[in-house]
Amino acid sequence: MRLSRYFLPVLKENPADAQIVSHRLMLRAGMIKQSAAGIYSWLPLGYKVLKNIENIVHEEQAKAGHIAMQMPTIQSADLWRESGRYDAFGDEMLRIKDRHDRDMLFTPTAEELITDIFRGAVNSYKDLPLTMYQIQWKFRDERRPRFGVMRGREFYMKDGYNFDLTKEDALHAYNRHLVSYLRTYERMGLQAIPMRADSGAMGGDDTHEFLVLAETGESEVFYDSAVTDLTFGDREIDYDSVEDCAAIMTEFTTKYARTDETHDEALFNEVPEERRRTARGIEVGQIFYFGTKYSESMNATVQGPDGKPALVHMGSHGIGVSRLLGAIIEASHDEKGIIWPEGVTPFHVGIVNLKQGDDEADAACQSLYDAITALGLEPLYDDRNERAGGKFATMDLIGLPWRITVGPRGLKNGVVELTSRKTGESEEMPPEQAVARIA
Ligand code: ATP
Ligand code: MG
Ligand code: MG
Ligand code: MG
Repeated sequence: MRLSRYFLPVLKENPADAQIVSHRLMLRAGMIKQSAAGIYSWLPLGYKVLKNIENIVHEEQAKAGHIAMQMPTIQSADLWRESGRYDAFGDEMLRIKDRHDRDMLFTPTAEELITDIFRGAVNSYKDLPLTMYQIQWKFRDERRPRFGVMRGREFYMKDGYNFDLTKEDALHAYNRHLVSYLRTYERMGLQAIPMRADSGAMGGDDTHEFLVLAETGESEVFYDSAVTDLTFGDREIDYDSVEDCAAIMTEFTTKYARTDETHDEALFNEVPEERRRTARGIEVGQIFYFGTKYSESMNATVQGPDGKPALVHMGSHGIGVSRLLGAIIEASHDEKGIIWPEGVTPFHVGIVNLKQGDDEADAACQSLYDAITALGLEPLYDDRNERAGGKFATMDLIGLPWRITVGPRGLKNGVVELTSRKTGESEEMPPEQAVARIA
């Protein structure tokens, strides 16, 4: 992409109404624009990162054997009356009337709709286990939408639902989700710690939230610092193996890590004092096992091995896809701007032409552009007629992992400059070598 042809409305000034750094930087980098409280347009740069995050979620769900689908954003109130949640959901639910005066709503989550799809099509235990998920816009009329995409009213969420014959099978699904979520967050350069949480409006017994530690997080958390040493890394996992998934579950959830809702002072005090931490965190996902809560209220049964109808055991599992942009930026930025982890960056490398219109500099930039594109990577070429200082500031703000600076003076010596956004270190080298380094 050439910057002269792109839409990147960066802001020079700090937006006054943005209280936290990720919100400020997303506005300044021209990633989002608010259209109403808690409702945003995703401008090209923000949209690209959103899609990268979405793709990682899809890839990791596919590995776990979970099936992608999509449900509508507008639902009829009927199913929600059946489950009893139409009233229980309260003011967070956006209620809508159609022209026939029927009660509709904008989906805040989708347990009812997927349970209805399931009960209409699945009759036998032989068709289980089954896990389906979607990545879809949700709406919750939050009392205090704030911090940009972190607490929006309209937000993008991955929500998955498992249907199993027994509690044991459903707990395997729960563990599979835990593993796939660990991998998902790590690919985004994030450490998200599973913490025992409270099931709230979902109902049910087992639930973990995934929290990214950050001072601006809205949750208070208590943990044994040893949990921050755990990483999933690039180990192989057999998602069909009950034992393997359970072992990861045990490894990541045995040490003390809880949100304030489930915090237990006495248990916490058993953690060696020097490892006890109280901090704040951003909830980027949550997994639930809730047993037969919805299958009972909505009569979702299958014929069991004994020929008798059996209520299915269910769980639901969410990732805050749009919130993740804020969480990643909170975790990875400096005073100049965003520092994108390689896994989600909107472009892989920025090319800065110090003397636009100089034949040699223009040609060198173009051949770098072609070489990088040929590698399957995406460069952003700043080909505008602007001062070098302004170009550098924009590149630093939008946080691409690499910058290649091209100018007539360097080209005389056959070199360009390669700069790492993360370390700030620059090195001169021939153009081919710069391309090889970022490949
Ligand atoms: P919170 O406690 O922050 O209100 P939640 O527990 O109500 O979130 P869940 O029902 O668990 O949310 O939804 C799954 C995920 O969706 C959350 O873990 C979070 O990452 C994301 N999410 C929830 N509400 C919002 C929101 N208003 N804006 C952006 N993301 C959200
Ligand atoms: Mg909420
Ligand atoms: Mg919550
Ligand atoms: Mg939650």
